[in-house]
Amino acid sequence: MMRVGVYPGTFDPPTLGHFDIIRRGARLVDRLVLGIGVNSGKSPMFDFEERLDMMKELVADLAGKPGNAEILVVPFKGLVVDFARAHDAIVLLRGLRSGTDFDYEFQMTGMNATMAPEVETVFLMADLAHQAIASSLVKDVAKLGGDYAAFVPPVVAARLKTKLESLKSA
Ligand code: ADP
Repeated sequence: MMRVGVYPGTFDPPTLGHFDIIRRGARLVDRLVLGIGVNSGKSPMFDFEERLDMMKELVADLAGKPGNAEILVVPFKGLVVDFARAHDAIVLLRGLRSGTDFDYEFQMTGMNATMAPEVETVFLMADLAHQAIASSLVKDVAKLGGDYAAFVPPVVAARLKTKLESLKSA
């Protein structure tokens, strides 16, 4: 049986924290489906296609390495449990950072488990160096002229640079 996991998120933009979770998750399942949120209520800095492209570039080296899952990058909208079911997933992967993440995830997991008992939510923690990274703060730092290179993969850093320039000249 092929074990499928889904990892849904906004990924605006993907950070080294997300990448860490993906890297770990890719060792646990046979296929990992990364769901890039289409209709984020968060009015994202990067539109959906940009986030999808960044993620594809990011995981290109991971996929296919021995012991790693096959990795798909696809749009995600609607309920997470429906997304998981559509991909025949048995694992719903989430990253856990702080207590704030925990409170929110605790409620979501409880409700998702009621709606889809066949899908198990699995929490992973990033390594210590990457635990504190949040997309929202990366964007703040970048907008304020700070150095964000330590928080995002090079592919994303390059995109952020271009995006900031286009926002400035707009
Ligand atoms: P969402 O809109 O679903 O919160 P995010 O892109 O913010 O989407 O996050 C997707 C998932 O990645 C969430 O489970 C989040 O907790 C997790 N995550 C984000 N940053 C980190 C990090 N630095 N370490 C571990 N997990 C993280």
